[in-house]
Amino acid sequence: MNWERTRYGLPVTIYQWVVGLSGISFLLLHSFSGVRTLPLLPFAVFLAMHLVASFLHFQYARLNVVITFESAFTTATLLTFGPIPAVWVSVFGIVFGSVKRVVERRFLLRKNIPLAYDLGIIGFNSGMVGFMWLIAGYMYLHILKGELPLTTLDVRAIASILLMFCTMSLVNHLILFISSYLQGMDSAVFIKKALFPAFLTELAIIPFGVVMALAYNRMGLLAFMFLGATLLLSNAVLRNLSLIRYDQEEKLRQMAALNSVSRRIIALRDDEAVVRLLYSEAGKVLENQDLFLAMTHPETQELRFLNSVDPALEGLGRLVATARQPVLITNTKKHAPEGLKKELLDAQVRSCIVIPILAGDNIHGILGVYSSEFSAFKFEHMQVLIMIADEAGLALENSKLYNALTDKVSQLERLNKELRQLDKLKSEFLANVSHELRTPLTCIKGYVEFIKKEKLGPITQLQSEGLSVAQRNIVRLERLINDLLDYTRLEFKRTPLTLSACTLQEVWNEVYDEYGESIQQKKLSVHVIIPPDLPLLYVDPQRMYQVLANLVSNSVKFTPDGGVVWIDAHLLKRAENFFNLELYKSRCEPDSLVPVEISVRDNGVGIPPEALSKIFDRFYQVDSSNTRKYGGTGLGLAIVKAILDAHGTRIHVQSTPSEGSSFTFVVPAIQPANMSTALKPAPMHTPTQPKYVS
Ligand code: ADP
Repeated sequence: MNWERTRYGLPVTIYQWVVGLSGISFLLLHSFSGVRTLPLLPFAVFLAMHLVASFLHFQYARLNVVITFESAFTTATLLTFGPIPAVWVSVFGIVFGSVKRVVERRFLLRKNIPLAYDLGIIGFNSGMVGFMWLIAGYMYLHILKGELPLTTLDVRAIASILLMFCTMSLVNHLILFISSYLQGMDSAVFIKKALFPAFLTELAIIPFGVVMALAYNRMGLLAFMFLGATLLLSNAVLRNLSLIRYDQEEKLRQMAALNSVSRRIIALRDDEAVVRLLYSEAGKVLENQDLFLAMTHPETQELRFLNSVDPALEGLGRLVATARQPVLITNTKKHAPEGLKKELLDAQVRSCIVIPILAGDNIHGILGVYSSEFSAFKFEHMQVLIMIADEAGLALENSKLYNALTDKVSQLERLNKELRQLDKLKSEFLANVSHELRTPLTCIKGYVEFIKKEKLGPITQLQSEGLSVAQRNIVRLERLINDLLDYTRLEFKRTPLTLSACTLQEVWNEVYDEYGESIQQKKLSVHVIIPPDLPLLYVDPQRMYQVLANLVSNSVKFTPDGGVVWIDAHLLKRAENFFNLELYKSRCEPDSLVPVEISVRDNGVGIPPEALSKIFDRFYQVDSSNTRKYGGTGLGLAIVKAILDAHGTRIHVQSTPSEGSSFTFVVPAIQPANMSTALKPAPMHTPTQPKYVS
């Protein structure tokens, strides 16, 4: 014989019949003498009450924890009429209760359990309780010499009853344990969650049986009936409470699962992970592994089933995907769509739920769960599944958007890299071309000068004027080329700064030498406000000249005749954050540096607000048309910015069209008194010397 552990298999059934039949045989063997002298009416009342208790017999949740008062009536019968009547009462009750449960299971819940197993259960239960009570009765009467009928409750009586109960419980639990093992249940869990609570419940019931026996034996049938009725009522209440508790537990479990799904699913950015989580969590919530899942193809909208499933269910899935409506079928025979009814029944699908996975107007797939039992799913199950599917739909939509966004970002990054590459190539090209242009230009300049000075022969007045025009343009071209070269050098950080202390006045004087003539030509007034006690600037003087010269030349250029230009400098109070002190650390004591703010202001044409952020870009000019009024290359401010960047500081501009512009920047300076202590000796080589930074 194959004793493999199976849920409803043959070995279990045989075991049940063996236990059942031997129990009943023993019972019959012992019955002849016991029942003859029974008072019929009281016995009938005892039996009736026991039958009602069996009717209320309730199995808590999925585990076989029996909450019942049946044992109380059997105990009362034993202590009143003796063991054989007690056994008969118990067996009748058990047969009645088992038949009721088998009918319930087969015809109400329509569970698919073989008939032989169910009949086995009836025989098994009656045989088992027969055994139990026979042994318990024998123990009480013959070994413990217990009082019959019980009329007084002394310590000896209590001890005998308890011992009797323990014997009975031992037999009961031993047989149940073997049975659960054969049915493939986890023995440890079965003991913890079923046997132990059942033992405690029965222990608690025994005193009721004792009290009922005492009541009958001392006060008569009416007292017994009152007590029995109270007990039955509390049994009914307890049964309802247990049902409510079970319902609540199930809801709580579902809510907890839902909550955990929501939290985890929202963080997922990948379809595969979402689908995996959806599949595992939906299964857990429903405690059902018969799930199926299909995803929609983004373009064709075709459903792709992720696990192999009967074609009938696939068909149902497609219907749900088209209708975009969830479906709950509790009885395929009655409620399945006509075209699929037969196929679904053939595939043993008796009830199912199928949910579309939606996010807004988009359908991402379908999720289904099915069972070979009728009414396996309730409306609440569908609601929970819909919530999980909604979460999954949102997560899938998010993942789609996220992926699209990541694609775009990497595309932009690639383009940006290409642009930077192109920009670099362009700058290198500019640097090379300017360099190459300078040599022939110097040669042209020399020859023009030669010719003009008549070193190559006499020239006419007209020719001399023409050469003067050429010379002016050569100077412009030379400036442009120098600017270009300068800018590219700054851009590629080829020339380091040569820091030294200088006065702003010296720098300004140089600038004025260059632009004084233009200033006078345009009749501009220039206000120079340089306090005599202004600290020495600690900068690259040559570069600072370029900064001031570019700003002043712009002010001169963009201010109409008769306008005003202000050059203003003053010491600022706080030193932090004005410039990058790190750049100066190797050359001087950073604490000795003070900030001096310099601004170049004019009341010229001003700059439109939308152009303000662009004027420091190379080649940018507010008016770059061919018909533009002002000359220039658009490189001046780019050079200014690059030089100030190299000094670790920034330039700010404020401007109102038609009112004027103001350019302000802060440079490091040193008080003359601190000069000797401020500067560190210059290193032989200057690896940490400030370099141009952009
Ligand atoms: P350029 O002067 O050679 O055109 P810049 O880089 O020096 O190039 O200046 C860029 C643009 O910024 C100028 O073309 C001009 O439109 C604007 N700009 C600069 N300074 C002033 C100013 N002081 N007033 C008005 N516009 C100015």
